[in-house]
Amino acid sequence: MADKRYLIDIRKEFPLLVARPGLVYLDNAATTQKPAAVLDTERAFYEEADANIHRGIYALSEEASDRYERAREKVARFLNAPSAENIVFTAGATDSINLVAHSWGLANLERGDEILLTPLEHHANIVPWQQVAKQTGAKVVFCGLKEDFTLDVDDLKRRITPKTGLLAITQVSNVLGIATPLSEIIPYAKQRGVTVLVDGAQGAPHLKTDVQALGCDFYAFSGHKMLAPTGIGVLYVAEQHRSMQPYRTGGDMIEDVTEQGAEFAPLAPRRLEAGTPHIAGAVGLGAAIDYLESIGMDAIHQHEAALLKKAWHALSRIPDVTLLGPAPENDPLFSSRSAVVSFTVEGIHPHDVAQLLDDEGVCIRVGKHCAHPLHARMKVAATNRASFYLYNTEQDIDALVAALRHAIEVFR
Ligand code: PLP
Repeated sequence: MADKRYLIDIRKEFPLLVARPGLVYLDNAATTQKPAAVLDTERAFYEEADANIHRGIYALSEEASDRYERAREKVARFLNAPSAENIVFTAGATDSINLVAHSWGLANLERGDEILLTPLEHHANIVPWQQVAKQTGAKVVFCGLKEDFTLDVDDLKRRITPKTGLLAITQVSNVLGIATPLSEIIPYAKQRGVTVLVDGAQGAPHLKTDVQALGCDFYAFSGHKMLAPTGIGVLYVAEQHRSMQPYRTGGDMIEDVTEQGAEFAPLAPRRLEAGTPHIAGAVGLGAAIDYLESIGMDAIHQHEAALLKKAWHALSRIPDVTLLGPAPENDPLFSSRSAVVSFTVEGIHPHDVAQLLDDEGVCIRVGKHCAHPLHARMKVAATNRASFYLYNTEQDIDALVAALRHAIEVFR
């Protein structure tokens, strides 16, 4: 791994943050800004190596294929997958989960089976399973939460029965930043023959992740939440599922096609990547991984943990602000938590809060964050969410707190 660079300095490597020096960007759980290294690598692909992959015999196409496949190897190393062959490029986490729902879900679930979800899930890890349930007759079941909105692990375990075909679970909540105890849950589920999909959209960008140690069957994430371009994502597919039925069919994923039918490539990734992929996006994702690794995932995580503690305590001192989820010091899974804080302000609609903050250049997210079931369980109509990443600083937190205090004053 390259030298650890001091995290505060890196803002100058993000062209958008340089162009907008007053901007306090705190919507990183939605998407992240891109460093010049990623933008340059993507541009260099188009300027130096643009051709379709896996098809041309000519050198330019081989160069394009090489860059694409090198990116796959980087993703495999980043996740500690056994090999690049376990990595399927997709359009994002949503696309990855839909792939599993359609390829694995429709072929393996039937009436009487249960699909176990947690109330912490993003809609991307709920709706595809509801669709599979409709088509197969399987039933979607949710486990419970504790009073502080962390997962009720005992309840989850109780709900794993011989009927459970799949557990689809997030690594980190996109609303509360809290982690799920995957190292306890996954072995428990696997010992009972349950297939496990992990939604890593809020995990992979922030935490060192090892899919082999986790022991999951599938792991999904999006590039754009970890400095890479939009439109590129990843599905890790454990060895035993590499021959599952393809979701999309067409060019590049076949051995042969006749007028009578087609013979598919036998194994992922080829079997599951139909058509021309987002080649430059994959190459950009490779550059984003290089960038993150040049800083170090542990250093990034420590930086975020410090920001989270500071933000939590500064916000909790503002009268009428309610923070959701456990305080950092009460969270036994704090070491796997992401720097996300969600809050409400007594008597002020979250949209008004966000609007007043925007007037001061502070970008936070408002709404239900594609997690309606979680908001229903928390009994709040909407929340404000501030989410941090490696380029955020303590000054950003000071700006958030000052803008929020000001907004409350203005509103009162
Ligand atoms: N899962 C989680 C936990 C998320 O936070 C998100 C996006 O916010 C997604 C899935 C979907 O990601 P995408 O929209 O990039 O497909």
